Amino acid sequence: MRVLICGGGVIGATIAYFLSLKQADVVVIERTGVACAASGKSGGFLALDWCEGSPLAPLARRSFELHAELASAFDGKWGYRRLETLSVVASARRPLHAASRLAPPEWLARDAIVHQRLGTRATTAQVHPAQFTRGMLDAAIERGARLRPDASPDLRAAPTVAGFRASSWTAT
Ligand SMILES: Cc1cc2nc3c(=O)[nH]c(=O)nc-3n(C[C@H](O)[C@H](O)[C@H](O)COP(=O)(O)OP(=O)(O)OC[C@H]3O[C@@H](n4cnc5c(N)ncnc54)[C@H](O)[C@@H]3O)c2cc1C
Repeated sequence: MRVLICGGGVIGATIAYFLSLKQADVVVIERTGVACAASGKSGGFLALDWCEGSPLAPLARRSFELHAELASAFDGKWGYRRLETLSVVASARRPLHAASRLAPPEWLARDAIVHQRLGTRATTAQVHPAQFTRGMLDAAIERGARLRPDASPDLRAAPTVAGFRASSWTAT
């Protein structure tokens, strides 16, 4: 199966990786740079159960597990870490300590308080987003996927996609 993936962000990179495990013939087209957009600038924050009660809950849970599996398989290449997540409030104008509900960690500034614990090491984690995206794409490339940088697709889609034209090459 031949697959063209438009965009070398985290979505394109991870699709490329998982398809490469299935021996698909994968080409990723990226017009600017891998992880150049949201995927390189995000918080890289992962939560197990923040979609509970929505149709996305099973997907979020599976994604959280999969991140741990990938971090272990790739030996922590993108800085995966479990962490406690706190909601913090700070004010330069009024003292907030009366509203403090939880003991602050020692690194927190003195004019800030912990409003709420959002997650524990069992339920929240973080990756370096650009390193994760690049790591997934590198792993896909090691398994045969190809990256076409500086290419922007001109999909010929009437009535179904019949081919693809980029500035320097054509695939049909
Ligand atoms: C400030 C910020 C913080 C965030 N924090 C988190 C977080 O903590 N946790 C979380 O889960 N999510 C977070 N997100 C959301 C997350 O970053 C995005 O959902 C995710 O990165 C989207 O990935 P993507 O691959 O779909 O898109 P993108 O990362 O935007 O990648 C799209 C790629 O496609 C390329 N492209 C576009 N058009 C073309 C074209 N015509 N031809 C070729 N290439 C093209 C672009 O150059 C780009 O590289 C955050 C987002 C932002 C902005």
